[in-house]
Amino acid sequence: MSLLKVNNLKVYFPVKHGLFSRVKAHVKAVDGVSLHIEPGETLGLVGESGCGKTTLGRSIIRLIEPTSGTVEFDGEQITELSGGELRSSRRKFQMIFQDPYSSLNPRMTVGQIIGEAIDIHHLAANSVAKEARVQELLKAVGLDPIYAQRYPHEFSGGQRQRIGIARALAVEPKLIVCDEPVSALDVSVQAQIINLLKDLQVQKGLAYLFIAHDLAVVEHISQRVMVMYLGKVVELADSQKVCREPKHPYSQALISAVPVVDPDSKRQRIILPGDVPSPIDPPTGCVFHPRCPVAEARCKVESPALREITPGHWAACHLAK
Ligand code: SF4
Repeated sequence: MSLLKVNNLKVYFPVKHGLFSRVKAHVKAVDGVSLHIEPGETLGLVGESGCGKTTLGRSIIRLIEPTSGTVEFDGEQITELSGGELRSSRRKFQMIFQDPYSSLNPRMTVGQIIGEAIDIHHLAANSVAKEARVQELLKAVGLDPIYAQRYPHEFSGGQRQRIGIARALAVEPKLIVCDEPVSALDVSVQAQIINLLKDLQVQKGLAYLFIAHDLAVVEHISQRVMVMYLGKVVELADSQKVCREPKHPYSQALISAVPVVDPDSKRQRIILPGDVPSPIDPPTGCVFHPRCPVAEARCKVESPALREITPGHWAACHLAK
């Protein structure tokens, strides 16, 4: 049974206008996304900024309320839970953020930050047990337990991300939504954090929804990769298939932008014309058609369905084969 099942999720934000704040239009940030994640699996989610990937991650764990659709997690309908039920279920799914500093209370010590999560869910019998657990978590993320007494500003970006991971782990989650967790870090530190996440996944059987704009990073950590454009899924398959044999013209352009180490590589960079269109007024037909290098007349009027092109490899393009 899948750990997470998302069905036709939509997140539309109203755009208000005028004296009476009438709703003029909607931003379709997430427009009918379905996905599943198995226990212990990493699903990578990629796309340019503004494609809806962060909104999707947040709406799955209801940090943003979805407009419609369902989210089933560990056999429970997350979209139907009330406030108290949702708070207690949140223990099973956590989030780590791109900028860990802004998510760590600067007035609390690291021990208090991690201990707070343990307190909320009553996971330690007393203060001695809580302290021991905090120390164990700091060790698990590669930090000296003595750091429990220090404040977030005393740490580097990579160390702060480790603290964010320790806080997420404190409640023994089954899934962590990782929202661009290494984008703000130096490349050498990125690799350390990715390796830490991979080690923790093996040790604890964690599943990740790993959101990033960098396909090279996503390929390294994910078993499957999903590509989003303008609120919709345009491709989904095993990570190697998406990164080596992309079917959708948008994925092909994203992959062509990944630097290649091999000097003999013949890969040509595909430059897409224009910018991502506004999600308030998306293009008709295939939403990618104004930028697509191989668009045909029907692409302007017919929206392509996400279909299985080869076993396990899905793409939303009329021409994909
Ligand atoms: Fe390009 Fe048409 Fe395929 Fe859309 S459906 S990606 S416009 S070829």
